[in-house]
Amino acid sequence: MIESFEKLPGVGPKTAQRLTFYLLHVPQSELDKFANSLENLKKNTILCSNCFMIDEKDPCSICSDSQRDQSTLCVVEQPLDVLALEKGRGYKGLYHVLHGRIDPLNNIGPEEIFVNQLISRINKQESIIKEIILATNPTMEGEATAMYIAKQIKSQNEKVKITRIGRGLPVGADLEYADDTTLQRAMEGRNEY
Ligand SMILES: [Zn+2]
Repeated sequence: MIESFEKLPGVGPKTAQRLTFYLLHVPQSELDKFANSLENLKKNTILCSNCFMIDEKDPCSICSDSQRDQSTLCVVEQPLDVLALEKGRGYKGLYHVLHGRIDPLNNIGPEEIFVNQLISRINKQESIIKEIILATNPTMEGEATAMYIAKQIKSQNEKVKITRIGRGLPVGADLEYADDTTLQRAMEGRNEY
């Protein structure tokens, strides 16, 4: 158990030990629940074929929610960014999860993330989608990714509005660590890109 915990990101040997001994004091029923969700974590989750969010069903619960604004797409790097933005409750549109960012130093090009899928989604729903919010992280790679995507969209579709969130977000930071208020402000203060 200690060895397994040690393999998790951000967990050192000391924490791994502490977590393991903590679990020894947790009621068996809780442990069973934990073990069960761990066992089914990958079996029961799939990628939404529309937005590539991780969910238990396809289309995901966000895409299949008819109450949401179908005319706005928010493009994020990771599924965790969706969770962070959803916590703020200010955004009511749909998402597109790239599952990464363009990062030439680590050999990650546009083909390695879900960019083409985004472009064809926009082209297919040309009459519905009115705005694309680029919410990649305000890091060098995130900016480069936003720039690349904006260029791709503009070359194929002149009508759709492209905006970029930013105001209030610390430069170099990850979206998932920003607090709800900052994220909401960044979303409200998005600029034409
Ligand atoms: Zn979806």
